Amino acid sequence: MSFDTLGLSAGLLRAVGEQGYTQPTPVQRKAIPVILQGKDVLAGAQTGTGKTAGFTLPLLQRLSAKPANNGRCPVRALVLTPTRELAAQVGDSVDTYGRHLPLKSAVIFGGVKINPQIDKLRRGVDILVATPGRLLDHAGQKTVDLSQVEMLVLDEADRMLDMGFIHDIRKVLALLPENGARQNLLFSATFSSEIKQLADRLLNQPELIEMPHCHNTAGRIEQVVHPVDRHRKREMLSHMIGSQNWRQVLVFTRTKHGANRLA
Ligand code: AMP
Repeated sequence: MSFDTLGLSAGLLRAVGEQGYTQPTPVQRKAIPVILQGKDVLAGAQTGTGKTAGFTLPLLQRLSAKPANNGRCPVRALVLTPTRELAAQVGDSVDTYGRHLPLKSAVIFGGVKINPQIDKLRRGVDILVATPGRLLDHAGQKTVDLSQVEMLVLDEADRMLDMGFIHDIRKVLALLPENGARQNLLFSATFSSEIKQLADRLLNQPELIEMPHCHNTAGRIEQVVHPVDRHRKREMLSHMIGSQNWRQVLVFTRTKHGANRLA
């Protein structure tokens, strides 16, 4: 399957091609069409699955298809991330995939000067990628206007909750337009009960995108099971090592005592 069939515009397909991507990843295949339809999404996806492009590409398309309704260029899409590093990465993806579109983006996180961020926000930003704390600093100083946000993404939501951002997230949600007026996307590697609670509050009839957990084993490692009586396990291990003259062996045991006895 190629990217052409997902409903993405020419500018985005060009940017994807320039990245050298030939096929969408599984999460992209599922998420992109659903997000393009304007639905809310609850997606289970870990880092490395291509999730960032999975929400960034359709987000860019939806914003570019519908020009802002006033000239001031308010923030139209907000992506919240738990860390500066992730914010910077997502910001890079927005720039990369959106390079042929006339949309402006900014990344704001703490630990750096606030004034350059204020200047950038003042010049107008369509897509804002932010960590919650610094975003609330801007909101407190009235240097960011979130009243026109059409799309909200919570990226790595489980990490945000682990890092204690739930109160900040609630405060940010209170600054956004009515829930029914925006599209909400929640990405999380895990679905704890806290994530489910957050999803219940935030999402409207979300499309659930779950990727099967693939605990891939290393391709070059052969795995073999030897059924053996409990009392003969040691004997058998010793026989295998001795008869095949293995020089380096890594053995895992269930208990510390078992490891001591075996050694
Ligand atoms: P992510 O899971 O979003 O952090 O992405 C992991 C990596 O996969 C990033 O370096 C992307 O540039 C790359 N990537 C995303 N989508 C694709 C794709 N369809 N084909 C190849 N690489 C991709």
